[in-house]
Amino acid sequence: MSETHEHYIDGEWVPGEGAETFESYNPANGEALGTFHRATEADVERAVAAAEAAFDEWRDLSYIDRAEYLWEVYYELRERHEELGTVVTKECGKEISEGKADVAEAWHMVEWAAGDARHPQGDVVPSEVAAKDAYMRRSPRGVTGCITPWNFPVAIPFWHMAVTLVHGNTVVWKPAEQTPLCGQIIAEMMVDAGIPDGVFNMVQGFGDAGAAIVDDERVDSVLFTGSAEVGHEIQLKVAEEPGKQVACEMGGKNNVIVTENADMEMAVHSAVMSSFKTTGQRCVSSERLVVHTDVYDEFKERFVEVAENVAVGDPLEEGTFMGPLIEAQHVEKVTSYNELARTEGVNVLVDRTELDDDEIPEGHEDGHWVGPFVYEADPDADLRCIQEEVFGPHVALLEYEGDVDRAIEIHNDTNYGLAGAIISEDYRQIHRFRDHAEIGLKYANLPCIGAEVQLPFGGVKKSGNGYPSAREVVEAVTERTAFTLNNSKEIEMAQGLSADIKTRED
Ligand code: ADP
Repeated sequence: MSETHEHYIDGEWVPGEGAETFESYNPANGEALGTFHRATEADVERAVAAAEAAFDEWRDLSYIDRAEYLWEVYYELRERHEELGTVVTKECGKEISEGKADVAEAWHMVEWAAGDARHPQGDVVPSEVAAKDAYMRRSPRGVTGCITPWNFPVAIPFWHMAVTLVHGNTVVWKPAEQTPLCGQIIAEMMVDAGIPDGVFNMVQGFGDAGAAIVDDERVDSVLFTGSAEVGHEIQLKVAEEPGKQVACEMGGKNNVIVTENADMEMAVHSAVMSSFKTTGQRCVSSERLVVHTDVYDEFKERFVEVAENVAVGDPLEEGTFMGPLIEAQHVEKVTSYNELARTEGVNVLVDRTELDDDEIPEGHEDGHWVGPFVYEADPDADLRCIQEEVFGPHVALLEYEGDVDRAIEIHNDTNYGLAGAIISEDYRQIHRFRDHAEIGLKYANLPCIGAEVQLPFGGVKKSGNGYPSAREVVEAVTERTAFTLNNSKEIEMAQGLSADIKTRED
C-alpha cells in the first residue's frame, strides 16, 4: 500500500488523531495522486498550540535571520520548477504554462518577502517636542491561520505565508482539500529549509479543519482566500472575537469593457484570456463583457469564433488552452448556471457545456470537462446569471450605448469588486475607468487577469477586505506600534499639556 501523507505539526510528521483519510485526484483523468490523513479539531488544536509556543523565540530573531529560511525555500522552488509545475497541472488541471507560472509566482513572493527583510521596517516620526524621538515600529501579531484555495495551490500559500513568517509570526496552514499533494511538497520544502519546530505547521483537511483554525482563540490573524460564501462566514465569526483580525480575498463577477474606440484585436485577445484562461476558474476571471453598440457585431463575431474553437484538452499538452474543471461537483455547478441562463431567457451563442466525444483526449474520459458557454443578455435585466459568480467559462455579452460612463455604470452594477479591464485607444475613457470602476485590480488594454506579487491584490465591496499580497499582507500580520524616547532630563508634553505636578502647598 502506498504511504498516507501526514500533517506537519510542531516539527514532526504525524498522522493525527482522526481515522479518516482522503484522496487527491487528477481532474483531467481521475488518476489518484495520493492519500492524506484528514485533520480533526484535535489536530488543529495541537498545531495552534505548537505555533503559539514557538512564537516568542521566532519573533526574537532578526528579520534577516528569519528570511534566511525563506531563501532556502526560494532556491528549492526554482530548482524544482518543472517538477512542481507538473504536479500543479496534474492536481488542479491548469494547462502546463499556468502550472509552471504558479510556481514562478510563488518564488517571486518568497523573493519579495525575504529581500524585504533588509529594508527599513518602520518610520521615524517627528515629535512636537524637539527632545523626543518617535517611531512607528511593527510587531508581529502572533499565530496566523492561513486557509488557501486549490486554483493557485503553490502561489497563494506563499502569498499568505512568506511575508507572515519574515515578520515574525508563526503559521498554521490548511491547504485546499483538492490540492493536498502541492501542500505536502511545500511542507517538505519548509522542512528542508530547517524552519524551527512549531513555526510552520500544516494540517491537511476540509472546511471543518479551516473552521477550527478560525475558531481557535489563540489564532491572532486569519488570512483566507476562497469563495465569498466561506469568506463572509469567516468575517462574521472574526468580528465577534475582539483582537482577532482577518484579511479575505474572495470572488468576483468581473467585467471587461470594450469601448467604441477599442482596438478589436486587443479586445478579442484580452476578453478570451480573461474569460477562458484557467477554464474561468480564477477569482479575477471575467464573466461579463460590456461592449459598445458600434463595435458589438464585429466583437461578437470574433469572440464567438474563438469560443467555438478554443482548445480544451489534456492540460499537460502544450496545445491546450483550457484544462478540465476541478471536480465533478463543479461541473454540476457550471452546468446548472448554463441551464439557468437559458431559463432566464438569454440568447445563447456558444454552448460547449458537453464536449463532443472526439474532443476529449484518449484516456481522459473521467475528466471534468466543460467548454465555453457564451450568451448575450440585456445589461439592465434582473438576471442571476449575470450577477452571480459561476467560476467557469460562462460568459455574458452585454451591449451598451452612449459614453464610457454608461459602460462603467454597467460594470459597477454587481455586488463584487475584484478585477476589471477597459479596452480603448482613448486615454480619457481609460482614466474615467481608472477613477470610477469600483474594483481593486484595474487594467487597461490588457486582460483582467495576471497579477504580480509586488502590486496590491484584493477587492472592494463583496470581494474582500485586506490584501493578502506582498507589501499589503504586512498590514494584516503586524501591529503598528508607537515608541517615543525622551532625550531630555525634563518631561515636556505635546499639545502644551502641563507637566507640572501641583500639590496642596502650591
Ligand atoms: P472554493 O470554492 O474555491 O473551493 P472555498 O471557500 O470552498 O473555495 O475553499 C477555500 C478554502 O477554505 C479551502 O481550503 C477550504 O477547505 C476552506 N474552507 C471551506 N469551508 C470553510 C469554513 N467554513 N471555514 C474555514 N475554511 C473553510
